Amino acid sequence: MKNTLFTFSLIIFAACSSSQNTASKETENKDNTTKYAATITAENLKTHLYIFASDEFEGRETGKPGQKKAVKYLKDFYVSQEIKSPLGGDDYYQEVPAEFLNKNARGAELKDSENVLAFIKGTEKPDEIIVISAHLDHEGVKDGKVYNGADDDGSGSMAILEIAEAFKKAVKDGKGPKRSILFLHVTGEEKGLLGSKYYTENPIFPLANTVCNLNIDMIGRVDKAHKIDSNYVYLIGADKLSTQLHQISEDANTNYTNINLDYKYNDENDPNRFYYRSDHYNFAKHNIPVIFYFNGTHEDYHKPTDTPDKIEYNLLEKRTRLIFYTAWDIANREERLTVDTAVKK
Ligand SMILES: [Zn+2]
Repeated sequence: MKNTLFTFSLIIFAACSSSQNTASKETENKDNTTKYAATITAENLKTHLYIFASDEFEGRETGKPGQKKAVKYLKDFYVSQEIKSPLGGDDYYQEVPAEFLNKNARGAELKDSENVLAFIKGTEKPDEIIVISAHLDHEGVKDGKVYNGADDDGSGSMAILEIAEAFKKAVKDGKGPKRSILFLHVTGEEKGLLGSKYYTENPIFPLANTVCNLNIDMIGRVDKAHKIDSNYVYLIGADKLSTQLHQISEDANTNYTNINLDYKYNDENDPNRFYYRSDHYNFAKHNIPVIFYFNGTHEDYHKPTDTPDKIEYNLLEKRTRLIFYTAWDIANREERLTVDTAVKK
């Protein structure tokens, strides 16, 4: 009896001291996360987006001169931040050949295009990759009108730049992520999810080592259903392959951002079928867990009036931070995200 009691108190003692350690580590980690998330600002997002979605970029149509300006803008940003390319040296472009594009696209003949890739190597598990993606292309110029695509998907493209910058600041402080992060700007989305199709068929890192894909497509506006309370974002796909991913995302939001996470479009029976309609699906179909971040459609969707002056930058900042917090958790947790088939895809 005594003996047992002694063992029991030892266990209690061990448990307490280890939980204290865990608690202080958690506090430290939380402070760090908040500090780096704070570098993602409405002002920076606005500065970038007013250029990226300006008339000068001519609607960034796949293979056209405006799209070439867009990829250069992205590359120049990464070079300026000293964030490297996984392709090595000065080459931030994964060529997506015209032949591939035209085999898969309908409509006019497309020219060679490119995905833009940047990379932060993990400190402890560098072979495990988290992909954060958004499409860099849009609809181009039609009838002399520029389709600026500020929300679609300038908002997601600029969100990635800010997330990358936040992670890079952590690296500079010696607090870099344990796992690696690939910042993937895909082309040809508007032509049929082609850049992401190309990447997943010609991955730079094995898909088996790709932990998850957080895909951002339109997060700068408010749809009709949320005019009264705009503090929301639609999440699609989070629970379909990994219940753990869904929980991490929920926890990140509860702990830090407190956005209303709207799962309306996550419903298998939703007629819009958004789960199948952006680049994340090319990852999901390879059994890689995904989250698709989306604000829903609005009156300027796929119109020349999708301009940067209509973006709600404070909201864009908040949604971008949520994605950063989620990525931070997935990158730094002890164990790799588990895939289960609790919900079939
Ligand atoms: Zn889009």
